[in-house]
Amino acid sequence: MTHWKETLQDSVTKPATLARHFKFDYTVLDNACARFPMRINRYYFDLIKEVDDPLWKQAVPDPLELEDKVCIPDPLGEERLSPVPAIVHKYPDRVLLFVASECAMYCRFCTRKRMVGSSAMCVNEKSIEEGIKYIQETSSVREVLLSGGDPLLLSDKRLNSILGKLHSIPHLEVIRIGSRIPCTLPMRITKSLATILGKYHPLYINTHFNHPRELTAEAAKACARLAGAGIPLGCQTVLLKGINDDAQTLKKLFTGLLKVRVKPYYLFQGDLTLGTNHFRTHSSCGVDIMKQLIGSVSGMAIPTLALDAPGGKGKIPLTPDYIISTGTNLIFRNYCGEICTYPENGTPL
Ligand SMILES: *Cc1c(COP(=O)(O)O)cnc(C)c1O
Ligand code: SF4
Repeated sequence: MTHWKETLQDSVTKPATLARHFKFDYTVLDNACARFPMRINRYYFDLIKEVDDPLWKQAVPDPLELEDKVCIPDPLGEERLSPVPAIVHKYPDRVLLFVASECAMYCRFCTRKRMVGSSAMCVNEKSIEEGIKYIQETSSVREVLLSGGDPLLLSDKRLNSILGKLHSIPHLEVIRIGSRIPCTLPMRITKSLATILGKYHPLYINTHFNHPRELTAEAAKACARLAGAGIPLGCQTVLLKGINDDAQTLKKLFTGLLKVRVKPYYLFQGDLTLGTNHFRTHSSCGVDIMKQLIGSVSGMAIPTLALDAPGGKGKIPLTPDYIISTGTNLIFRNYCGEICTYPENGTPL
């Protein structure tokens, strides 16, 4: 089997290379590609079947990225919430720690599109040390989320060192890693990586699959390896127009994730990130999909649909409306649309 580093090395980064495999006018992509980097590693590239299919749309630039007149570079206000460059501290008890600036593939809808994969994202040994020091000195932080960029693109040695330092902080109770690598470069999940990660429990990984076609045998093997090391796996999916914005596709994805031991965690409404407006759905689209899924598929397969509020105001769950009225009785609709009654405590039956 080829080493993951070779698969990553063998990445498509120029539109002209795409044109060797697919028939289309690649010159229209040059500007978008110069503004926001493209990297499609060999593994993910081989999953693309045709121009404009759901995997193509996630990986290949679109001229529309430069025509976005609505969105803004940092919609979640992360820069304002950053006490030191490697940390975003929004909620009282948990922080993001940026440990990497690169990814195995650059997703066109990325929330940190303004900096991921470019020199605008400055992550180095010094910034990470500073971030760890901030956590050591901030006793309200009980959970750290390693993010970036993709933390699992770091070397085993580097990850081991960072995780070791975090693990020894007494008030830090949980380590969480956000990584798209089980989906985009599953061969990176080697036995030795799983062994290292397994030393730092309680450690959780939230991965990121957006389409059932990403659930390959290789991805399943990567997830099995992580789960086998005792790591609970979650998935943060992004709702993307023209890619997965229908109930059938998401049902297949979410039930498929359960089969590879990944629990769907969040389904995100698109952020207002500059260059991604063409992926955004109306908020009613996600709510309507949730309505179709809740009750008709396993509750284990149902994520929370969430909107990350602009300006760093936090994640807001968007839930279908079941309640019709409140008072002496709670009147509501069930998943089939039938009207039901629940008498409140104190209401005579
Ligand atoms: C999303 C996010 C978290 C984690 O939120 P959960 O609801 O616990 O998954 C933490 N910090 C920041 C800045 C975030 O954006
Ligand atoms: S893997 Fe995550 S951080 Fe990296 S480009 Fe994709 S969405 Fe952005």
